Amino acid sequence: MVARRVGVLSLQGDVGEHVSVLESLDVEVLKVRTPQQLASVDALVVPGGESTTIAHLLVTSGLQDELGASINDGLPVFGTCAGLILLSAEVLDGRSDQWSYAALALSVRRNGYGRQIASFESPVEVRGVGEVAGVFIRAPKIERCDDGVDVLATYDHGDGAHPVLVRQGNVWGASFHPELAHDARVHGLFLDSI
Ligand code: GLN
Repeated sequence: MVARRVGVLSLQGDVGEHVSVLESLDVEVLKVRTPQQLASVDALVVPGGESTTIAHLLVTSGLQDELGASINDGLPVFGTCAGLILLSAEVLDGRSDQWSYAALALSVRRNGYGRQIASFESPVEVRGVGEVAGVFIRAPKIERCDDGVDVLATYDHGDGAHPVLVRQGNVWGASFHPELAHDARVHGLFLDSI
């Protein structure tokens, strides 16, 4: 089934860029800010931004439990950058009160590729797609993955290859920002998997 209506979690972060890419793929896009809106989408993108801020707004919007239940029920969810952090089982260098959904059995280190000033762009080879421009902005580094996690792309920033695009069942995560590369193929791969 190709998703007909795709939500973009619109609490904070680079929402507009995801909306543009998804609209170019001919799906209906809905900005999700409430549990009612979440209930009406076939898939959800969780954008990059600031994971602690998005986590806080998930609580205040009443979406925290609803999104957790939707993930458990099999809603396809794709988290990029801060979105990846929110979906990870273990967050290293997180705030002491930082929570996450543990939907991806992996450990991720916040700002693992360096601070804002160390942001960079580099080609990334994605299985099933080919080479894409990887835009890394205060990107989280995936330091450990359990067996159940399918690694679709790795990148070596000089310290060995680390996963940068992963999938575990209905949940996808990327360290980089495919929405900033003017290239819809990674989003297309996610939607095709549904
Ligand atoms: N480092 C940010 C965080 O912890 C994520 C950066 C991003 O999404 N570009 O939320």
